[in-house]
Parts: sequence; structure tokens; C-alpha cells
Amino acid sequence: MAEPRRLVLGTRNAHKAEELAAILGDALDGWELVPTDGPEPVEDGATFAENALIKARAAAAHAGLPALADDSGIAVTALGGAPGIHSARYAGTRDDRDNIELLLRSLGDAADRSARFVCAAAFVAPDGTEAVEVAEWPGVVLDAPVGEGGFGYDPVFRPTGHGVSLAQLSPAEKNAMSHRTMAFRAILPAVAAWAAAR
Ligand code: IMP
Repeated sequence: MAEPRRLVLGTRNAHKAEELAAILGDALDGWELVPTDGPEPVEDGATFAENALIKARAAAAHAGLPALADDSGIAVTALGGAPGIHSARYAGTRDDRDNIELLLRSLGDAADRSARFVCAAAFVAPDGTEAVEVAEWPGVVLDAPVGEGGFGYDPVFRPTGHGVSLAQLSPAEKNAMSHRTMAFRAILPAVAAWAAAR
């Protein structure tokens, strides 16, 4: 059997890496997904796409291998798109409960609870090939956290067309339609095209 090709994953977030491995599953048959062991780059991009590219470039440069990375967050309409690219550190502590509490406090009793999860997936190869895809998952912010599963803002987000929060869905149900799934599905053809050209 041929040696699997190696692809570096530019994230140190274990939960995200798990979700990605599940999402990419069969689509990456013949590829070995290895987590980056390089330093965390400074995410000073102005958009999800720029930050995803920064992470993928750093992982590719460190490993000398092609890399995939993402940048994601929740954008709340009544907050002008905040916390957006600052979602992970919104409350300044990197603690999910603190972030949720600040989000609910900031939103108060705003009538417009609409929001969307956004994910940018980036592919960068050591030869300079780059691609990025952005996907959005619309829904509403609930009045209080519900459910035990997931991570981040999952307990306060109910996707459009569903009666429960993301924290009440199984990982398989979430992965069937998430912003991350859509962004990574969209980026896979770029990985395949790069590999086919070698
Ligand atoms: P990143 O690691 O810089 O992409 O930060 C993403 C942050 O956005 C996470 O720490 C969460 O707070 C939030 N986030 C992104 N995707 C999700 C999701 O699927 N569920 C809940 N929170 C998410």
C-alpha cells in the first residue's frame, strides 16, 4: 500500500481537532492528519479568512508540509457582528462560560437575536499554493444556555430550522451541517487539485 500523504492541522484546540477529524474522515482517505507542534502565530488578521490563512501558513512553514487551518466564531447581528473574530477571547479569559455570560449580558433583551457561526478554512502548501473558503451557519442566540454537549457558544445557539441548541445535538448531528463542515468540504477540492498536480 502507498505511504499516506501527510497534512498538518494548524490548531491546538483539541475539541476542534476532534471535530475536524470526524468531519474530514473518509474525504481524506490516503492522508495522515497530524496536529501542528509549531508555535501559535499572532492572529492579527481583520477577517476570519485572513486569520485562517495565517494559521495555515504558520503550520505549513513549521512542518514543511501542506496544512489546513480554520478560524471561526459567532457573529451577532444586534452587536454589529461581535464577537466575530474575537469569539475565543471575548471575555478576556478564554473561558466558554465567561464568554457566554458576556454575550448574553451584551445582548440584554434585544429583540433581534439573530446570529451566525462563521468558519474560514484555509489550505496552504509549502510551494506557496493557497486557498480559503468561508461558510456561515445562521441561527439565533437563546436567552440562557441549554444542553451539555459541544463547546464554546454551542449552549446558546439554536440553528435555523432546529428546535434545540447545538449543545443538545450529538456530534454527528452537528457535524452533518455545521459551518466548519461546510467550509472544510469546500476547501477539499483545493487539496485534491494540489495533490493531483504533484
Ligand atoms: P478560533 O480557535 O480562533 O477559531 O476560535 C473560535 C472560537 O469561536 C471558539 O473558541 C468558540 O468560542 C467559538 N466557536 C467557533 N466554532 C464554534 C462552534 O462550533 N461552537 C461553539 N463555539 C464556536
